[in-house]
Amino acid sequence: MIDFNKIKSRSKLYNFHSHTQFCDGHAPMEDFVKEAVAENFTDYGFSPHSPIPFESPCNMSMSAVDDYMNEYNRLKSLYGDRINLYLSMEIDYLGSQWGATNKYFDTIPLDYKISSVHFIPSFVDSKLYIDIDGRYPAFKQKMELYFNNDIKAVVESFYKQSIDMIEAGGFDIIGHFDKIGHNASHFKEGIENEDWYHKLFMRTFEAIMDNHLIIEINTKAYVEHNRFFPNIKYFDLLRKSGAALLVNSDAHYPQFINLGRNEAMRLLEL
Ligand SMILES: [Zn+2]
Ligand SMILES: [Zn+2]
Repeated sequence: MIDFNKIKSRSKLYNFHSHTQFCDGHAPMEDFVKEAVAENFTDYGFSPHSPIPFESPCNMSMSAVDDYMNEYNRLKSLYGDRINLYLSMEIDYLGSQWGATNKYFDTIPLDYKISSVHFIPSFVDSKLYIDIDGRYPAFKQKMELYFNNDIKAVVESFYKQSIDMIEAGGFDIIGHFDKIGHNASHFKEGIENEDWYHKLFMRTFEAIMDNHLIIEINTKAYVEHNRFFPNIKYFDLLRKSGAALLVNSDAHYPQFINLGRNEAMRLLEL
């Protein structure tokens, strides 16, 4: 297991969450490494969306995993003298049948594991897992098609799935753990300020603390949408909680590897 504390104590220029040509990223892995080296990053981790047991345009296929590992090893031998590179995945949790504890992931020599919720079961057909992580226009359509436009139930399902994932374990870092707040707020303004929402957030946060997971501060949406995950209003809580924090850009483009990271670090006094 990587000593993230040691890395953080010697460098602010790290990123452990990024996507490349192997999933829904927009450039080859090598371009990210070149950019990271050019920006003097000390540590850089790749985390493609993991294989899942059904077709998804955003996730890596199982058949591509060998190519991913080979490319990682090639880049490590080429650039390893200038930057520490890491092999990882952002593993989807799909209930008890699929997640980081699945034996399949033990067969891949991952340096660390991120786990995130991007899919929840449809209210119309619970066997159908729906991606609720995408952009708002698609989310709005899915609310009608798969969730009877019941935003409170969608938020509850997202956090229930997150708590189940935390309790199942098998990973190191929890990815963007209140991400649903973004689309939910578009659907119903102010929803994140409602009491029941706050309670769900806190229940999830407490489960994370009880299970000693690393909390990711995800800066991907900072420039475009002026928000961090978790929501900036919880930064005081995060700062005082003593939780292990990592500031990741979740970059899908090489030029965005450091986007929003300095702002988050300043606010968190990291
Ligand atoms: Zn994600
Ligand atoms: Zn991601």
